[in-house]
Amino acid sequence: MTGNAIEIEGLTKTYAAQGNQPPKHALKGVDLTIPAGSIFGLLGPNGAGKSTLINILAGLVRKTSGKVRIWGFDQDVNPRQSRASIGVMPQELNLDPFFTPRAALEVQAGLYGVPKSQRATDRILKAIGLEDKAEAYARSLSGGMRRRLLLGKALVHRPQILVLDEPTAGVDIELRQMLWQNVRRLNEEGTTIILTTHYLEEAEEMCDEIAIINHGEVIARDTTSALIGRMDAKTLLIHPQDALPALPPFPAGVEASHRRDGALALTYRRREISAGTLIEILRNAGVVIRDIATEEPDLEDVFVALTSNKSEAA
Ligand code: ADP
Ligand code: MG
Repeated sequence: MTGNAIEIEGLTKTYAAQGNQPPKHALKGVDLTIPAGSIFGLLGPNGAGKSTLINILAGLVRKTSGKVRIWGFDQDVNPRQSRASIGVMPQELNLDPFFTPRAALEVQAGLYGVPKSQRATDRILKAIGLEDKAEAYARSLSGGMRRRLLLGKALVHRPQILVLDEPTAGVDIELRQMLWQNVRRLNEEGTTIILTTHYLEEAEEMCDEIAIINHGEVIARDTTSALIGRMDAKTLLIHPQDALPALPPFPAGVEASHRRDGALALTYRRREISAGTLIEILRNAGVVIRDIATEEPDLEDVFVALTSNKSEAA
């Protein structure tokens, strides 16, 4: 398919009041399209509504209102086809403790109506590195193995869209690499990948496009590079030849601070002033510069800038 793997319009979710907890507006009118073939990142602070969104896509949580199309199928009109188009690796480790990995994959394939002749249980067990644990009870598997099994379960019906909710939260480096290898390979084979992560470096490295969600609203959505390009702030690191004399005055908007290694850090806005001008000011003040480096903004800066100064709202 060319075009969009997912189309969401005006999606809302309100969790009903519980005890003395008021109703929770977890999603407040989300519009979002996710292009087919991409690796798409859904980022946001804890409680932003990421899992709610993903669980609605997966058919695990019932939306309050709005439209959801999965692989072109309207969830309300063609629930079966839209469900068949998507596989979800959930955030929670919800495995039946008495199922072996092989049984868990077979049962899942059965739930999705995959005929026995078309099941790929052995191939999946191999891909997730659980061949030699195929007959072990799930309760005897390590946390990492359980996560891998959840990935395998998401793949039994060969969905066009694979969704991973915080797949690498609290997992070791080896498992993380194994997961990303699988994700990259699946994407190269044509699977659209949607993932949530709070490891921004990981999102920066893996995702072509990103949506940032905060308090149930999409507050930014762009290609990863364009999002980072929005950040105007840049830092110039000056290593002086000798200990610095009193600092010369800098134009308004330039922040000067000292780093532990003796460097002077000047944070400035590219649109307002150039690095050349800052260096000129220092030279005129008699500072002999031994070395210069710059720090580019990264996704973390974007994320903090967009999500920090918004107060918690119901
Ligand atoms: P995220 O995955 O971004 O951390 P969630 O989608 O899990 O966010 O949660 C969004 C908001 O909805 C949070 O305030 C959370 O407490 C609330 N929430 C999530 N699930 C439920 C539920 N089953 N019942 C009531 N409130 C919920
Ligand atoms: Mg979550």
